[in-house]
Amino acid sequence: MTNNILVFIEQRESKILPASFQLLALAEQLASETGGEVQACIVGQSIAGLADTSASYGAKKTYVVDGEEFAYYRASPYATALSAVIDKADPKAVLISTTFMGRDLASRVAARKKAALAIDCTQLKLEGGDLIATKTMYAGKFSATFRLSGSQLQVATVRSNVFAAKEPQSGVTATVENVAVTLGEGDGRLKVKEVVASSSGIKDVTEGDVVVSGGRSLKSEENFKILFQLAEVLDGAVGASRAACDAGYQPHTRQVGLTGKVVTPKLYIACGIDGAIQLLAGMRGSKVIVAINTKKEAPIFKVATYGCVADLFAIVPLLTEEITRLKG
Ligand SMILES: Cc1cc2nc3c(=O)[nH]c(=O)nc-3n(C[C@H](O)[C@H](O)[C@H](O)COP(=O)(O)OP(=O)(O)OC[C@H]3O[C@@H](n4cnc5c(N)ncnc54)[C@H](O)[C@@H]3O)c2cc1C
Repeated sequence: MTNNILVFIEQRESKILPASFQLLALAEQLASETGGEVQACIVGQSIAGLADTSASYGAKKTYVVDGEEFAYYRASPYATALSAVIDKADPKAVLISTTFMGRDLASRVAARKKAALAIDCTQLKLEGGDLIATKTMYAGKFSATFRLSGSQLQVATVRSNVFAAKEPQSGVTATVENVAVTLGEGDGRLKVKEVVASSSGIKDVTEGDVVVSGGRSLKSEENFKILFQLAEVLDGAVGASRAACDAGYQPHTRQVGLTGKVVTPKLYIACGIDGAIQLLAGMRGSKVIVAINTKKEAPIFKVATYGCVADLFAIVPLLTEEITRLKG
């Protein structure tokens, strides 16, 4: 086993997920403790050009698995590809982002490689070669710390936006190793027949640096329009509480919370959301939380950085107008 830290770079349509750059910065910290280097793994189709990008964010070497069969994420072929890269690179630890893809892939790869696994870590450090992983539990009420044995491969998925990415260095050329992967018998069982992209063009709630989220108080899908307008001027995404999704105002793909998605944006604006514990589980890691609610006792104000006791239907359009004016 080497002392290197391998980062799985998540990409879609040849666009790297920003959280992967955060992993490269974290990997650099860990590699400085092991005395190893940061390496990257990119899987996809026509993605060789992304190696330079990962190098500019700190990867000293990038393993590339490029092929038609990797055009779209499918759990089994991607697990075979990452496992093949692990066999080549023999890293001390593998870091993967906590996304739907990351969770799916990490558990499969850890099982195949008989590795120790920690999911959705918010802190990671090395102690005597063991990975010390902290993650929140019970809807964010507790955090638990785990020690992963350094005598075996260690795999960790890391929550987005907890660690900062470094500024990319310009003019860096990657050291690339192409890895040829032979897919196994079971790898072809699942085929992608059609990919239907969301027509809105608005970001996924886990990908926005800004999330504008609405609750049951929006009262209709139509009324969510004002949140989309605010999200648009802030280049953000739109989220919703479970009550709003259950009522059909927004699809469940936008639901934030215990049974929805976990978001950690730089700015989360809660519009007419009460702040139930199950909702907080999905957003309390946000850097700045702004709450707009007519009820000053609403629990959301307990976690809010800034609170505004007001009617969202009056405040949200004003915010959109003012931000548009400031942006010129
Ligand atoms: C097992 C389990 C899992 C769950 N998972 C989730 C989850 O993942 N995500 C989630 O969100 N919930 C989840 N819930 C549900 C959760 O408990 C709450 O019921 C839900 O979050 C409430 O949504 P809400 O805040 O939009 O609605 P409400 O509780 O109805 O709150 C509406 C808020 O809007 C305010 N308001 C009303 N009108 C206005 C106005 N004009 N302007 C400003 N403010 C106004 C009110 O004062 C109130 O605070 C879960 C529950 C369980 C039991």
